[in-house]
Amino acid sequence: MDFKLKYDFDQDVNELLNRLSKENISFKNKTVLVSGGAGFLGSWVCDVLVKQRANCICLDNFSSGSGSNIAHLMDKDNFRFIYHDISNPIYFGFSSYPENVCVGDIKKIDIVMHMASRASPFEFKDHPISILKSNTLGTMNALGIAKAHNALFFYTSTSEVYGNPPDDAVPTSEDYFGHVNPVGPRSCYDESKRAGEAFVKAYELQHKIRTKIVRIFNTSGPRIRYGPEFGRVVPNFIHQALNDQDITVFGDGMQTRPFIYVIDEVEGILKMVHKDEALKEVINIGNDKEYTILELAKIIKDLTNSSSKIVFKPLPIDDPIRRCPDISKAKRILNWEPTTSLEEGLRKTIAWFSAYEEK
Ligand code: UDP
Repeated sequence: MDFKLKYDFDQDVNELLNRLSKENISFKNKTVLVSGGAGFLGSWVCDVLVKQRANCICLDNFSSGSGSNIAHLMDKDNFRFIYHDISNPIYFGFSSYPENVCVGDIKKIDIVMHMASRASPFEFKDHPISILKSNTLGTMNALGIAKAHNALFFYTSTSEVYGNPPDDAVPTSEDYFGHVNPVGPRSCYDESKRAGEAFVKAYELQHKIRTKIVRIFNTSGPRIRYGPEFGRVVPNFIHQALNDQDITVFGDGMQTRPFIYVIDEVEGILKMVHKDEALKEVINIGNDKEYTILELAKIIKDLTNSSSKIVFKPLPIDDPIRRCPDISKAKRILNWEPTTSLEEGLRKTIAWFSAYEEK
C-alpha cells in the first residue's frame, strides 16, 4: 500500500537544500547556536546547517527534543551537542563569573536561533513552569549570548500569540494583537511566547541587537513527537488510523488549522534567518490554507486505508476555533510560500510513522 513506502529522509533534506541554494541561502562557515536543536524543527535546521558546512552548536536538554533526532549528526566535525537547559545561563568564550556554565573554546557565535520550548497543548497541564521558563528566562539567556557575541538573534514564536482570533481577523496578519486568555490552560505557552517577543524587542531597543521573530503555524512531518501523551492532532490521528483505533475528533471538528509540511516551514525559517530584509521584522510562516479537523480526520483515514471510526470528544478549554495566517509579508519579504500539498505531506509523514510503528 502507498503508506507502506519507505520514507526517504535524504530526498527531503536534499529538496530543502536545493530550494535554499536556488536563492543563495547558505550558512557556510557561520557559527550558529540552535537552542532546542534536538527538537522537531530544530533538528531539521541542524541538518541543513551541517550539510551547508556551517558550525552548528546544538543546545538541548531533551525535555521535548530527542537524541534520536540528532544521533546521525554526532560524529560530524561541524556539529557540537551541548546538554543544557537554556532557562539557565550559559556563556561562550568568556564568563567573568566562575560559577557560571561556560563553554570556553567557542569564542564567536554569528547567529543565535532560540527554538527551545515544549509546544504541545497536551503538555501545558504537566509542564507549565518549564514552558514559561524556556520562553522568558530562556529567551533572555539566549539574547544575552547574542549580545555578548554581537550575533543575529532569531526567535521562533508562534501563531498562539494570536490566541483565538475573531472571524474578521482570520487570515491573521502580523499586526493583529491577539485575543488571549492570560489565566487559561494555554496561557503558559501563549503568554510566555508573547513575553518572549517582548524580550526580543527590549534587547533590540536597548542593546541594539539585530533580531527577527518568526510566528510558526501548525507544522507536521517526520520527527514530530509521537505518542498519546504528546497529543498533537496529526500524529494522534495517524497513530489511531494505522492501528484501526477510533479517531478522536475534539468538539464538532469544525475548528480549523493550517497544516504545513516540515520542509516548507524550515525553508521559510532559514530564508528569514538569512535575508537582511527580514531584520527587525515579525513574520508569519505557515500554510495559508485552512482545513477543518474533521476534514483532516477523513483525509488521514483515506490515506491509511483505515477502518477506524471517527468519534467526537469534548473540545478542550480555549481551543482556538479558527487559525490561518496571512502570509503576504512572507511572500513579499522572503519570496517564500508553501509548496507541498496537505496530502503529499501527510503521505510522507504516514510513511515515516508506519516504519516507526513496525519497530
Ligand atoms: N485535536 C483533536 N483530536 C486530537 C488532538 C487534537 O481533535 O486527538 C484538535 C485540537 O482540539 C485542536 C486541533 O486538533 O483543535 C489541533 O490540535 P494540536 O494539539 O495539534 O495543535 P494546536 O493547533 O491546538 O496547538
